[in-house]
Order: sequence, then structure tokens, then C-alpha cells
Amino acid sequence: MGLILFYVILIILISDFALERYLAFLNIRESGKELPALLKDIYDHEKYVKQQKYFQTNSRFSIITGSFSFIITMLMIVTGGFSWVDNFVQQYVQDPIITPVVFFGIIFFANDIIGIPFELYDTFVIEERFGFNKVTPRIFILDKLKGYGMTIILGGGVLAIIVKIYTLTPTYFWLLAWALITGFSLFMTMFYSQIIVPLFNKQTPLEAGELRTEIEKFATKANFNLDNIFVIDGSKRSTKANAYFSGLGSKKRIVLYDTLMDKMTTEEIVSVLAHEIGHYKHRHTLISFLVSMPITLVLFFVLGLILQSDALAQALGGTKASFHLNALAFSILYSPISLILDIATNVLSRKFEYQADKYAASQGFGEQLISGLKKLSATSLSNLMPHPLYVFFQYSHPTLYQRMTRIVQEQ
Ligand SMILES: [Zn+2]
Repeated sequence: MGLILFYVILIILISDFALERYLAFLNIRESGKELPALLKDIYDHEKYVKQQKYFQTNSRFSIITGSFSFIITMLMIVTGGFSWVDNFVQQYVQDPIITPVVFFGIIFFANDIIGIPFELYDTFVIEERFGFNKVTPRIFILDKLKGYGMTIILGGGVLAIIVKIYTLTPTYFWLLAWALITGFSLFMTMFYSQIIVPLFNKQTPLEAGELRTEIEKFATKANFNLDNIFVIDGSKRSTKANAYFSGLGSKKRIVLYDTLMDKMTTEEIVSVLAHEIGHYKHRHTLISFLVSMPITLVLFFVLGLILQSDALAQALGGTKASFHLNALAFSILYSPISLILDIATNVLSRKFEYQADKYAASQGFGEQLISGLKKLSATSLSNLMPHPLYVFFQYSHPTLYQRMTRIVQEQ
């Protein structure tokens, strides 16, 4: 049985990599096609050449990073590398709770550290060459250290509690672990902007001036408290612009990147804000959270069933069941299901984007939203014509073309 699962794991990993490469190939082929009339004015000739170059550079780079991580994972599976790490850890710690935490810690840090050269190349070579990068070596190092600290405290802490629950009650493990994760993600959804974001960025209330006055007019009309609108210093890391809505209830907030301010007119910024308020009006954060609850429940239920199976540990080169080897094997075996769930999540997310656009259009911001979105695409050199299948699998937002045509129809 262990051997069968070993082959199943290999097949899953190979199919997953093949699918990823196939979608990327379709996308590359599609990118050279002529743009529809609606999109013709986004790039002038020179900018369009630059955009194509940026797209090709990123595509080539993702072939390298994707293949590298595929080869490393395959090597780890084929040579029984995970079981080797397990034996290594067991030489020093035998505690049923600390062992899994150290095991996953080693896997996480090893994986992250071998990825650093790729991150450096992406940030300081690719993004730099195309004029997007604002990250200094100092920011890069600080971000890494803060990220590691967070992973150790939050990731390590949650994992330790989950393993503890398992050792106390294998029977009700799934239910209690689910309750813990649900509580934790509810907490994170609510306090993310107050606890996590400040570690990396500064958020400031809107400054007095024309923009604040215009935003205030609309926010009051839409019944959205101005105190929940913040400007974030995105310019610290990149010239690319963005805006997002996060949180629930009284902890909700709309965050506008300072980079948005330099690029858009006041009316365009208000239209982006109207889109974000659309997310709030349609309760998108709450719905996403509720949808994730039963999915997590099923995940923990199945995990609970197979944590004692020796075959799973054997598939990774181990001899008998252990929390960490079984959980790791499960995460790979579960990935075809999570692929389907990811697609479903993206379908839902794209539907939410249309709803938020529709709300902004219904408030009279259709035209401004279109011109704002066009600027966002132009300044970040986005690929305007991704392959439909690539969009179906990977995009959390509809393409610019899809959004524009839909907004025009709805006006
Ligand atoms: Zn949105």
C-alpha cells in the first residue's frame, strides 16, 4: 500500500507540474495576439514592446523557478529525503509535539532559503530593470526576518496546538482542530490590518484636501465611515499601485496605496473606492469566510482518518505513522482536491469583482472606473490578453477586457 501511494504521489506531482507548464505555454502563445479595439489605447507602441518584454521575462523566469522546485520536490520524494529529515530530527528530539514542529520548521526554512536567490533576482534584476523596484537590501532583509519571526510564532504556535489536540484526543481531533483554525482565521480576518500590516507598512488616515473632500462626499452617501479608509506606503517596495478591502464588522477597512495617488485623478480614485465599498456592501469577506468553514472541516476530517495509517508515512520513505510524515503525504494527496477548490474559489472571487464593479457603476462611476483600471494595467505592464483557460485556473480577478465590457453593458 505504501508503494502504491508513493506512485500516486509521483503521478500527482508530475500532473500538477505538467498542467502548470501547459497553462503557461497557452498563455505565452496567446500573448502575441492582436489586441481588441477596446484595449488598443492602453499602450503606445514603445510601451507595448516593453510590456511584451516584461511578460516574456517573467514567463521565462517562472519556467526556471517552477522547474527548480519541481525537481527538488521529486528528489525529496524519490530519495526518501523527508524520512531522512524525520530521522535526523528524532535523533535530537523525541517529544510528540516538538518533533513535528521542528520537522516542518526545517522543511519550511530549507525551502525558503533555497528560494532566496530567485527572490533576489526577481526583485533586484527583473523588477529593477523594468522600473518597478523600490525595495532596498535593508528592506529585503528586514522583511525576511519579520516574515520568519511571524512564521515561528504564529505557524509554530498553531501547529503545536493542533498536534497537542491530536495527542489528547485522536477521535475528536478533526472537530477541535477545525474550531481552532476557524477561530484563528476569524481573528486574523478581523485584526490583520491592525496587527500584521503595521509590521511591514505604515497606514495613515486620509490627509485633508481635495481628495479627502471628494471621498468624504461619496463615503457619506454610501454610509461608509471615513475613519475606516487608510493610505498605505506601498511605494516603499514597488511603483505598482493597488487598493483593497479587508476585515469584518467594525474592523473593516479600505486601504489605498499611495502609488495610486500619483497615477490617478481624484475621480478615478473615488471610483476605485466605490468598487471597494461594493465589496463591503455585498459582504464578500463574510461570504468567503463562511465558504471556507465547511471546506476546512472536511479537510481535517479526512486528515484525522489517515493520521494513523502507516502506508502514508511509508510512501515518503518512513516506516510507521507519524503526525508530520502523514500530514505531509496527505497534503500532496489532497492537492488534486485543493486544485478544484482553488478553481471554485477563483470563480467566486471573479464573481465578487463583477459585483463590486457593478456597484461602482450603479453609483455613476463606470467611466472613471474603466479609465482607472486602464491606468492600473498600463502602469504595471499587465498582460492584457491572457489565455481563457489560464484565467479560469489562475485569475482571482476577471481580465481588464472582461471587466470593461461588463461595466459598459451595465451602464
Ligand atoms: Zn475588488
